[in-house]
Amino acid sequence: MKIFCIGRNYVAHAIELNNEIPDEPVIFMKPESALLPPNASFHYPEFTNDLHYECELVFRISKNGKNIAATDALLYCDAITVGIDFTARDIQNKLKGKGLPWEKAKAWDHSAIIGTWVSMNEIKNLKDINFCLYKNKEIVQQGNSGLMINDLENIIAHISIYFSLCEGDLIFTGTPAGVGVVSVGDDLESFIENDSLLSLNIQ
Ligand code: ZN
Repeated sequence: MKIFCIGRNYVAHAIELNNEIPDEPVIFMKPESALLPPNASFHYPEFTNDLHYECELVFRISKNGKNIAATDALLYCDAITVGIDFTARDIQNKLKGKGLPWEKAKAWDHSAIIGTWVSMNEIKNLKDINFCLYKNKEIVQQGNSGLMINDLENIIAHISIYFSLCEGDLIFTGTPAGVGVVSVGDDLESFIENDSLLSLNIQ
């Protein structure tokens, strides 16, 4: 199983981190060991002092494919949820400053959190999905799939130029504006529309 993540997929988030708006999808990956197992507790890693949440829509690949046309892309995807792409921002800034790869900031054990899966059949309009993140009962991020720079179909098509997509692979589709820090003791809760799909306590 592979975890693909899209960087800078919302204009307002690219701007808040002083990044350029990309002209094609920015792709990075997390290994399978990055996924927090179901019901496991999340522990603040000792190697960072600037742990950020990034709330994102996450899609699950349902069959193997390569060089998938955007018009066929939805045939390869069966479920959606929300996830958190945890980022050690201090480490990422150091690596970005030197032009080095991001893995130590993004791909560490348990840096990928996913919520309860919802069938794609239940999504009426893929271009208008509202999602949000609360920290300690206060809303900190609000996104809508219609604001993605690259939509799901284009993301799947682009990834599959370079990588075989396999059943069970996950795609984190980028975070909207409002990323920020978490501390030990914080509670995170994330929704698609009015459905609470993910809750996590930082330990
Ligand atoms: Zn992200």
